[in-house]
Amino acid sequence: MGNRTLQRLAFCLQSGMISNLLNCRFGRLVVMAQAESAPNYERQWLCQCDCGATVIVRAHKLKSKRKQSCGCLSRDTASAHAKRSFTKHGGRNTREYSTWTSMVRRCEDSNLGSWKHYGGRGITVCERWREDFAAFYTDMGQRPRGTSIDRIDVNGHYEPGNCRWADATTQNRNKRRTSVKSRTLGYAEMCSDQDVNLGSGSKG
Ligand SMILES: [Zn+2]
Repeated sequence: MGNRTLQRLAFCLQSGMISNLLNCRFGRLVVMAQAESAPNYERQWLCQCDCGATVIVRAHKLKSKRKQSCGCLSRDTASAHAKRSFTKHGGRNTREYSTWTSMVRRCEDSNLGSWKHYGGRGITVCERWREDFAAFYTDMGQRPRGTSIDRIDVNGHYEPGNCRWADATTQNRNKRRTSVKSRTLGYAEMCSDQDVNLGSGSKG
């Protein structure tokens, strides 16, 4: 660090423009070192989380307690919620569980009429969800009434990032878009049909 930088740093510290958060604890995070500033020049700190991960956090997020872990805190809270709900309802009687079993059957039970649209086309349920309903529940959350599971990329698998709870209108729009796409239209035509959603189609 150059002399000028040091002087400036000392000035900032004295004038309270920045505060030194070194070694301070915020929830699960302990501030280890100063990190490179954010694009807007805001100070950022390298923090060590109790879970062992390190993460760079903007100063204001620490001070306002908006960031209190590497992300493991909200994950733990969500999975605790899922576990509670799972235990309370016995898991198997939930709407989410029936979604889960139907999803698995569509992909794996070739006796099922709809299998040809799913398993028959190579659509699978990712390992994490296939092996553990609780993991599926943790990732998807509660199923709102009137919705069912929808794959955003209809040629993609049942996996986190490609699934959402959607009502029939959204799902039909998503389906129609695909059937149009599969009729090998010109690129411009595809674009105008997909419109805002162009990005999600290429995800894999
Ligand atoms: Zn953590």
